Amino acid sequence: MKYDTVVIGSGITGLTAALVLAQRGQRVAIVEKNRFAAPLLRRFRRGGVWCDPGFHYSGGFEPGGALSVIFRYLRMGDSIRPVPMNADGFDILRMGDMEVSIPVGLDRVEDALRAAFPQSEKAVRGYIEKVNAIMSLTPFLSFDLDYRDFSNNQHMIDESLDSFLDGLGAEKNLKELLGQYGQFLYGVPGNEVPFYIHALIMGSFYRSSQTLANGGDELVDAFLHRLDQEGVVMFCGSPVAGIEVDNNRTITGVKLGNGEMLECGSCISTIHPGLLVDLLPGGAVRPAFLSRLRGLENTEAAFATYLEVDDVPARLNDANFYRMRHPEALTHNSILAIMMAGSMSHGSRKKGLCVLKESPNSPISKELYGTSRRASEYVEYKEMETANTVERLLECYPEMRGKIRVADSATPHTYERYTGTPGGSMYGVKHSVNQIKLNSMTSIRGFYLAGQSILMPGIMGGAVSGVVTAANIIGLETVWNEVKQWRQ
Ligand SMILES: Cc1cc2nc3c(=O)[nH]c(=O)nc-3n(C[C@H](O)[C@H](O)[C@H](O)COP(=O)(O)OP(=O)(O)OC[C@H]3O[C@@H](n4cnc5c(N)ncnc54)[C@H](O)[C@@H]3O)c2cc1C
Repeated sequence: MKYDTVVIGSGITGLTAALVLAQRGQRVAIVEKNRFAAPLLRRFRRGGVWCDPGFHYSGGFEPGGALSVIFRYLRMGDSIRPVPMNADGFDILRMGDMEVSIPVGLDRVEDALRAAFPQSEKAVRGYIEKVNAIMSLTPFLSFDLDYRDFSNNQHMIDESLDSFLDGLGAEKNLKELLGQYGQFLYGVPGNEVPFYIHALIMGSFYRSSQTLANGGDELVDAFLHRLDQEGVVMFCGSPVAGIEVDNNRTITGVKLGNGEMLECGSCISTIHPGLLVDLLPGGAVRPAFLSRLRGLENTEAAFATYLEVDDVPARLNDANFYRMRHPEALTHNSILAIMMAGSMSHGSRKKGLCVLKESPNSPISKELYGTSRRASEYVEYKEMETANTVERLLECYPEMRGKIRVADSATPHTYERYTGTPGGSMYGVKHSVNQIKLNSMTSIRGFYLAGQSILMPGIMGGAVSGVVTAANIIGLETVWNEVKQWRQ
């Protein structure tokens, strides 16, 4: 059978792109290397608590927000039940002795930052104004725009966040706080992240941060139901092992690891673009493109520790807590993020907590991870990192001592194994002022790139990338005008 489109990868981007195309009558297949769909979204249970690997909260779930409109357009609106976080402080940021609670609403974020950094009042005002302006000029962050605005990139300031804040005269600690906060949510430090990427992602969190009642499962279940209704075929458990291209540099199909061939008219790859080096046939793209793919710089990985806690401090029930590096600290302590307990404890007496720790360089080689049996060095490293994470957590919340049981933990290798993303990188390719952005269109006719590494990271970035890439195949104007109708 020949498919109109084959989508490689079943993360949020692949699921979204496939459903947009199928809804418009295309015959679509999704290929996922794992035996189950969406490994970053699918939660698992350990002990009495739920563990979410790659989704905890997001902006865009509010009425009229990017995700809420996209899910309504995909006829999934009723299945997705966002749960608001603490409106007075959904993220608590601690840096040294300073603590700043980030409330819902850009005006309120401005007030909170001005109160914390009175000497930088003007800079804070200029920062929020610019975040607002960029959002209002960006499709999906604003639904008032015309499809022609997709190619209007003038507001996409390529200047870094740090340099933009320097221009406003922001004090050092404000720069540090915003830089590290953003770094955890998109993986790029303040001196490298283009200001517009910071503005789009952080602006959407500032507008409204929410989680889902059943975590990532809620998204996956809703997608699988709709994809099934639309007749999308899922091939799980065998990776794409090769991309087939004819002499005219036109896509003809994809080959699976088990030897099966899926013929197609177009193909969307949502996997880490660096992996394509081994999948593209020789001569299909220019050598310069291949060396660009080989040299891509990635965001850092995280080490995740899942805990069962008898008694979670009240503030962690509906808010996340970030312990930042202090700029004057003598040792380089990685950022620690404690994800709110709410949805992880769903249906359970115990409370679940997920603690994420930046994990820039894994001291243990990938080979020691193995596939079935882990080497003892790997097991020791994992136990040590887990214990270290728990100690760091107890420094912040000593009252939890004696009330914690480790349910599980995941190293960067675990993430790499499930997603294929090199080094288990949290957000894929770095969106950086030092790295040229990859384009969704490639020199192979009918072959497109999409996902966190192409447009924007996160659940919202992936979903928007999925819609836009599918729309490039079936008509941007038509799709945009349809999507916009679901904004109310
Ligand atoms: C620890 C952690 C916490 C996070 N927390 C949040 C959060 O709270 N909120 C938020 O918005 N974002 C969060 N993110 C980021 C978010 O999960 C990602 O940005 C997003 O899920 C990426 O989606 P994607 O579809 O672009 O890529 P992926 O989900 O990586 O999808 C790519 C898919 O391709 C598959 N694949 C790879 N190679 C092949 C092959 N050869 N053949 C077939 N299939 C293949 C992979 O298995 C994978 O399923 C977090 C990420 C991590 C790691």
